[in-house]
Amino acid sequence: MEDCVFCKIVNKEIPSQVVYEDDKVMVFKDLEPQAPIHYLIIPRQHFNSIMNVPAGNDIVQHIFMIAVKMAVKEGVGDEGFRVVNNCGELGGQTVNHLHFHFLAGREMKWPPG
Ligand code: AMP
Ligand code: ZN
Repeated sequence: MEDCVFCKIVNKEIPSQVVYEDDKVMVFKDLEPQAPIHYLIIPRQHFNSIMNVPAGNDIVQHIFMIAVKMAVKEGVGDEGFRVVNNCGELGGQTVNHLHFHFLAGREMKWPPG
């Protein structure tokens, strides 16, 4: 997708601090971290949001498996972490390429703002 910042990260047209990648996803550090560990997990394929993932597509399952892998890698599986998807304007989505926030290293509040 033209002009999609995360597609540009996938295509290595703009730099990012990659912490993991495979044939389906990339994980990189958020530019404005909201926790000591704040990664974005994104599919290589462009979907505007979770609303655009076709039924039967297993990308979200894969992304959560990678989130668990990141928790193990960072040693936060026991203390806990949070995975967040913001969808649409009221959901607080600012980048229209499906992504999941992986947040860890501090106590999370509930409800979110
Ligand atoms: P959201 O508000 O859920 O759409 O989240 C978008 C996130 O992308 C924000 O936390 C931004 O800080 C982050 N972000 C935007 N551009 C970049 C970039 N070039 N590299 C890393 N993170 C980015
Ligand atoms: Zn994109």
